[in-house]
Amino acid sequence: MFTSLDNSSVNDTFKDSIFNGLSIDGGLYYPKEIKILNEIIQNIRGLSNQEIGYLIMKSFINNEIPDKALKKIIKQTINFDFPIKNIQKNIFSYELFHGPTLAFKDVGASFLANSLEYYTKDRVLNILVATSGDTGAAVANSFLNKKNINVIILFPKNKISSFQQKQITTKGNNIYAVELEGDFDACQSLVKRAFNDKKLRQKINISSANSINVGRWLPQIIYYFILYKELNKINIEKEICISIPSGNFGNICAGLISKKMGLNFKKIIASTNINDTIPRYLSSGIFDPKKTKRTISNAMDVSIPNNFPRIEKIYNDNFKSLSNDLISEMVNEFQTKEEIKKTFHDSKYILDPHGAVGLVGLKRNLRNNETGVFFETAHPIKFMDSVGKILKIREDFFKINLNFNNKETIHKIKNNYNDLVDFINLIN
Ligand SMILES: *Cc1c(COP(=O)(O)O)cnc(C)c1O
Repeated sequence: MFTSLDNSSVNDTFKDSIFNGLSIDGGLYYPKEIKILNEIIQNIRGLSNQEIGYLIMKSFINNEIPDKALKKIIKQTINFDFPIKNIQKNIFSYELFHGPTLAFKDVGASFLANSLEYYTKDRVLNILVATSGDTGAAVANSFLNKKNINVIILFPKNKISSFQQKQITTKGNNIYAVELEGDFDACQSLVKRAFNDKKLRQKINISSANSINVGRWLPQIIYYFILYKELNKINIEKEICISIPSGNFGNICAGLISKKMGLNFKKIIASTNINDTIPRYLSSGIFDPKKTKRTISNAMDVSIPNNFPRIEKIYNDNFKSLSNDLISEMVNEFQTKEEIKKTFHDSKYILDPHGAVGLVGLKRNLRNNETGVFFETAHPIKFMDSVGKILKIREDFFKINLNFNNKETIHKIKNNYNDLVDFINLIN
């Protein structure tokens, strides 16, 4: 049911696709068929979020996971709210941060974790991920206590916020937080090396949980159908423009697929920070990634978005139709901070830096007769280092209970591949 973007003769099951992460030939998996779901769209008001989630995932997985089991996976995944908030006259914030780790990656990570658990009854699986922050948190939370699954999360020493670190290190049980003496790229390269290590992989089952895995990527389509329902309930069905803060372009790619499945979005805007390979590419036709720069919207500090080949595939690798349809905006650090201030001043609404990028990109493209929605992908409390300073507020401004009462358990390794292998052997 899934083929490879590098080799159209690949024809793998959902199970193989989520275990492999990438196809054997190294290409990204892509669904062989994208169904148009007009009947669901017409009746969307009457469907619960879980029913929507089930019908969408069913359209990709078909009968590979029996209905009862798929419904259970959805129930464990879609179990919090996805509200829209009207913050200015024709502008809505679509809040995707009400999940357990306060960022939108919870839905994808949880769907993947529950699907893998469904298949790992008879063998032990090791999930190996490198993180620069949010991915590690979502994966740690989603995989906690999953039977027969060990999760090894590599994070760079002193390079993630203390909030994010605690989200990874306080779980315990089957979640192993490994602090590496090096940066995120060093973490990433050790993980890659393990995936290419035939000797290790003969002994131990290893799988990935990053955003290229179809088990994480496809469930994000559900957001767009729920958004469509929420707007429908207040009689907004046309002239809808949406802006998605983008880094690896997985979320926006899911949005473009949802349009193929029949959702009526007029404009889809990919908003980036100063890591602006794609906005430059769409206007010049030249793909010219620069060195990645650090920003306050750090989950989007990516210069080679790993889902972009899927977006090109949606447009049949035709640059002209892609650049005519997809809008992409670069928002710099000054503009991001000014938007956080302005929105707080005008609407008493607190943006996180990623949502702020989305809102600026939206405003540049929105006309009066249109309805604009930007995706709020993280709770601002995760980014108090920047938001707190900009708005002169503190953590206790938000009345939420963070309860990190566990002790942190950290396994430390040098930037050395053998240290990682020793650690993996030790826990298996
Ligand atoms: C991961 C992340 C993004 C970027 O999503 P992509 O699918 O990689 O484009 C945006 N905002 C937040 C808060 C994130 O954690």
